[in-house]
Amino acid sequence: MPAYLDHAASTPMRPEAVEAMLPFFQSRFANPSGAHAAARDARRAVDDARDVVAECLGAQPGEVVFTGGGTESDNHAVLGAVRLHGGRAVASAVEHHAVLHPVEHVRGQLVPVDAEGRIELGALEDALDADVTLVSVMLANNEVGTVQPFDAVVDIVRAQAPHAILHTDAVQGFPWLDVVTATGGADCISVSAHKFGGPKGVGALVVRTGTTLEPLLLGGGQERERRSGTHNVAGIVAMAAAMRATVDERAATVARVGTLRDRLVDGLVASVPDIHETVPRSAKVAGSAHVCIDGVESEALLFLLERGGVYASVASSCASGAMEPSHVLAAMGVAKERAAGALRLSLGYASIDADVDLALDVIADAVGRLRR
Ligand code: PLP
Repeated sequence: MPAYLDHAASTPMRPEAVEAMLPFFQSRFANPSGAHAAARDARRAVDDARDVVAECLGAQPGEVVFTGGGTESDNHAVLGAVRLHGGRAVASAVEHHAVLHPVEHVRGQLVPVDAEGRIELGALEDALDADVTLVSVMLANNEVGTVQPFDAVVDIVRAQAPHAILHTDAVQGFPWLDVVTATGGADCISVSAHKFGGPKGVGALVVRTGTTLEPLLLGGGQERERRSGTHNVAGIVAMAAAMRATVDERAATVARVGTLRDRLVDGLVASVPDIHETVPRSAKVAGSAHVCIDGVESEALLFLLERGGVYASVASSCASGAMEPSHVLAAMGVAKERAAGALRLSLGYASIDADVDLALDVIADAVGRLRR
């Protein structure tokens, strides 16, 4: 069995999510926007899923907009705010490209982070004024796992940019953190189902009552005119099932996977000379292990890891599969030579002891070989 250590890229689907979605491919296939009994049945399924998603995110059902995933949710928040309200967008320099590129597209401003990847609160304060209409700060980082000081961000944004919509990309935070309390101060929250045992291509954006965004998609007026397009009923239902399971099991998963992660990192530090933990474990989510290994090239290392049955990654996944230099490590001030040996090992709810055992053997061996 290979050791899959790339949960930050995607997770296997939870059995309860698979089971929940199957009827909507066959007997319950109708379009929920229709008027007949079969359509009403599909509509009820979407409404029930909406109730679950709302509860799991600390929102009202009417505040949940179903989307085609994390990228769409992020784009909707950033572009939707600036297009409707004008003004400026501000985001942390370590956001996922799904936030970074829309912010750059509207000529927004990026706020630096410290050596652990946390947004510089003083610099955030300096970047804000009454002209800022959108602030986006992620809950947890997809590369290095750093959890942002979101409560402090909320206070600063409310004080310095009273007109700003505060968005948080909780795509990587949701599996690990109590999102209801952690994002309570946000106006918009993005999540993506495939990061917590749901299917790819479905997500949600919470848009709090009173917060207005220009829609990205116009058409049939679904989602109360906020996101047109026939609902992905099967995906939405499966996302809700995965969310419920994630929330119910979260505390136990964090404890169990955190222990696995610690064993993995402690084992690597003991067996691989000149390896550096990129961010202290106390500053990041339980599933994240990110290290930089001196004297090896990430690409060569990943090749040997794959041959040994260990699936890991370097930075975030992008369409080409190519390895681009990490903007996250650069923003944290990690030297290029050190970043060249970056390795992201991300555990998830499905991780088991055997994954760590195999990874420890294969990584130590691969690094030894590359150095020889
Ligand atoms: N935001 C973060 C932090 C992510 O890690 C990802 C996916 O890697 C996304 C957004 C994009 O989500 P999706 O893959 O659903 O488009």
